[in-house]
Amino acid sequence: KIVPLTDLQIASKAKMLPIWEIAKNAGIPEEAIEPYGRFKGKIDVTKLPKKATNGKVVLVTAISPTPAGEGKSTVTVGLSDALTRLGEKTIVALREPSLGPVMGMKGGATGGGYAQVLPMEEINLHFNGDIHAITTANNALSALIDNHLHRGNDLKIDPRRITWKRVLDMNDRALRNITIGLGGPAQGVPREDGFDITVASEIMAIFCLATDLDDLKERIARIVVGYTYDKEAITVRDLGAQGALTLLLKEAFKPNLVQTMEGTPALIHGGPFANIAHGCNSLIATNTARSLADIVVTEAGFGSDLGAEKFMNIKARHGGFSPDAVVIVTTVRALKMNGGILKENLSEENTEALVLGLPNLERHIHIIKEFGIEPIVALNRFVTDSQAELDVILTWCKENNIAVALTNVWEEGGQGGIALGKEVISQLNRTKNFAHLYNVNDTVENKVKTIAERVYGANEVIYTDKALKDLAEINRYGWDVLPICIAKTQYSFSDDPKLLGSPKGFPITVREIIPKLGAGFLVCLTGDIMTMPGLPKHPAALNMDVDKDGNAMGLI
Ligand code: ADP
Repeated sequence: KIVPLTDLQIASKAKMLPIWEIAKNAGIPEEAIEPYGRFKGKIDVTKLPKKATNGKVVLVTAISPTPAGEGKSTVTVGLSDALTRLGEKTIVALREPSLGPVMGMKGGATGGGYAQVLPMEEINLHFNGDIHAITTANNALSALIDNHLHRGNDLKIDPRRITWKRVLDMNDRALRNITIGLGGPAQGVPREDGFDITVASEIMAIFCLATDLDDLKERIARIVVGYTYDKEAITVRDLGAQGALTLLLKEAFKPNLVQTMEGTPALIHGGPFANIAHGCNSLIATNTARSLADIVVTEAGFGSDLGAEKFMNIKARHGGFSPDAVVIVTTVRALKMNGGILKENLSEENTEALVLGLPNLERHIHIIKEFGIEPIVALNRFVTDSQAELDVILTWCKENNIAVALTNVWEEGGQGGIALGKEVISQLNRTKNFAHLYNVNDTVENKVKTIAERVYGANEVIYTDKALKDLAEINRYGWDVLPICIAKTQYSFSDDPKLLGSPKGFPITVREIIPKLGAGFLVCLTGDIMTMPGLPKHPAALNMDVDKDGNAMGLI
């Protein structure tokens, strides 16, 4: 039996071009590329030639995620290589991996097989220092808040009502709830605090929606950090910290340039959570890619109910564009899981379970159609899939008039995505009929109801007393005119992670509404959403090592 190479082994054998050559091929002038070593760089967008931002946008989303894995990043990278092979000027735009999931469950987030971005290990570990900068900006704000309390608290901030938390780019459950300032008057004012993972910081969400440094600063100024004893909101502007925080972010804010295994330019920049935030790479990277290429392939986190909905209603709305094509990644394995099969039995052929799982795909297709877009299904082939199983999905799509392409980019790179690339190109040539799901000026209740009913298939939205109190405050401040960011489990259309498949007609419970004024959306929490994940029983970190020559081992 041939043991397949790991993603890291394949990546380390791949040949890379120096980053200045990738930059040249992408039309980036020498003065605009700042090399970080030989194979990574940052782009100084102020030095790019002024060009229209009109590259077409292809969004890659997926069915409901399962532990079986869908390979969304793999297909995103492979599709961009396929489009390059088809002669299209293409750039792929992705999120930056976070060290928490890399050391925890995932072990890496740079695609897989022969559809990867390079240098794989450096992108997965400390990539160009961006997440460090975001962590530092976030924690500088925490330090300034605590210093303000210590120095007499002129703003009368109620230490019990500080909502701003510290962050760390690691899955560290022991830090979720902490007490700080212990040890007497010289050590500050004691209060409860806690850590989130860096990608859950509002600074990350802002970083990914800001159009330029001025906008970044203005959004940071608007962050609400807590409330006074009189329950009035305190913002970063009140503390006067927006200048320093933006300064800490100025280099990180430049989009990162790397390459795929086949030399397609890749912009990898920013990576917010897809539940309490909007889950896609930075707008500045997408805009830069759109000014340089004719087609930009990008992805949004989790399934279409979370990532794609937020991509359309938050990121694209804010960026003033809409996707020109949407690809839904599906696999035989994940549909079988949605059809009730346990993970350990996924390698056995089971067309009945697959048929039972198909309604999940159907729902994701329906969601994209709600936005006026005809999606394309990418069937990401695994070696364990039988022809009969692949045929079930291909035939079902054809019978239902859904564009579909079998995709083999994991094994074959761009060549395995040619059929998908052709489907995407033909979609790009059709006229667009895009519509947002809701008007931002509508009431919060109506906006949430629209998402709950039209995207999730819920029949009722229930608000807890806490959520109703939050809503009253939001209306009092006039913050109700912002888009909605629903934090919901990724595993189900409902707020119950165990309800797999295609549930309908359930209630959604909003437990809390958190204004994120800097990011510019209202987070509605449904269920328990983890903003500081923990490590699993056997963390991916325990398989990792480095040899005496500095070569990484065990990154997946
Ligand atoms: P997602 O973006 O959906 O989380 P990734 O693209 O990161 O998924 O892939 C997760 C893992 O699954 C990677 O290790 C990748 O190599 C593997 N993978 C993806 N597609 C395939 C495939 N067709 N066959 C085998 N492994 C795959």
